[in-house]
Amino acid sequence: MKILVINSGSSSIKFKLYEMSSAEEGEVLASGLAERIGEDTSTLTYKRHEKDGSETKQTWNDPLPNHETGLKRIIKALSDPEKGVISSPDEIAAAGHRVLHAGEAFSAPTKVNDAVIDAIKKCIPLGPLHNPANLDGILVASQIMQGASQVAVFDTAFHQTMPPEAYLYALPYELYKEQGVRRYGFHGTSHKYVARVTAKLAGVPQDQSNIITAHLGNGSSMAAVRNGRCVDTSMGLTPLPGLIMGTRTGDIDPAIIFYLGKQLGLSLEELDNLVNKQSGLKGICGHNDLRDVHTAAEEGEERAKLALSMLAYRNKKFFGAYIAALGRVDAIAFTAGVGENDSWVRAQSLADMEHLGVVIDLERNDGRCSEPTLISADSSTIQVWVVPTDEEYEIARETYEVLS
Ligand code: ADP
Repeated sequence: MKILVINSGSSSIKFKLYEMSSAEEGEVLASGLAERIGEDTSTLTYKRHEKDGSETKQTWNDPLPNHETGLKRIIKALSDPEKGVISSPDEIAAAGHRVLHAGEAFSAPTKVNDAVIDAIKKCIPLGPLHNPANLDGILVASQIMQGASQVAVFDTAFHQTMPPEAYLYALPYELYKEQGVRRYGFHGTSHKYVARVTAKLAGVPQDQSNIITAHLGNGSSMAAVRNGRCVDTSMGLTPLPGLIMGTRTGDIDPAIIFYLGKQLGLSLEELDNLVNKQSGLKGICGHNDLRDVHTAAEEGEERAKLALSMLAYRNKKFFGAYIAALGRVDAIAFTAGVGENDSWVRAQSLADMEHLGVVIDLERNDGRCSEPTLISADSSTIQVWVVPTDEEYEIARETYEVLS
């Protein structure tokens, strides 16, 4: 079954076409990105994945005034007689769409229907940058690919199993009921994929596995997974709280917002921009990319060293909290740009936790991991893994499951 995974952003469409032979086995046929949609010059980068593992890459620069022309161009590339991988667009059985926010409406991937569209629209205030673009992708695909099923896979879905004590804020209860103010959590597709793979690696049946997943990238979040189901996560109503990120604060005293608003006369928009775009690593040392922070620290920049220590310390506190929340922990898994590549962050985030059963083997931990890698010592009661995430594959897999 051929499944096209679509991640539609405000000016881009990322795609991957899979041939799924079962829910557990899929092969990537082609992938790519249409960028700068709606601008004067747009680019479609298209890669055909060859059987020997190599990729044949091609770039087109036709104008793509909107998502409709963008998706049509992608389908034309996929069915190109020379460079394509399908002989007709009708071969695509389904499109699996990444959707940021579905609130409490959906806890599993769902075939697109009016209720799905209503839920995505209703959650636009909670995901103002992503939800409209995700919806655009769904509407355009439904129109262009009329023979294909459309499935929405929600970033919030995996976290819907959290119990109320984990997802409620200690605000007046009516604000939850009437305004939907609660912890939703994000990166759900990644946490779900990594938790499943880690359970297998650790040799524990998924429905009995207790795992902490740390998705550390530009945006970062952790999830505590008990018996294969999410019971807590570090992001909240929005992707702002929790861990220290590239430009986001993570947890801060919320009263800082009022304090700064009054002291500096900042508007709500300015405060929003401050905590989401000017803070985190960037706010402390001026660099938001962790590779640049490391370089600056090596060159002796004190603020860069401070930013690194703050990031690792915050991660460590969350690991400690989630070990407490879960009780027995089978494994911890690191994933995403920082989790897969930054051995310093991994080691420091779990340093001196032998008393909690976590011992990192510095040699195993050394370097970048493009394959699942065990980085804990044999004496560690909690296994620690690096598991490269694959959100697109998870979307293809879930789409396949919905259709079967
Ligand atoms: P997102 O999807 O949230 O935009 P990614 O998961 O792609 O982010 O992660 C981006 C982060 O990963 C950046 O901060 C970058 O510095 C970091 N990163 C990527 N490669 C490396 C590396 N080799 N060493 C350290 N950090 C890395």
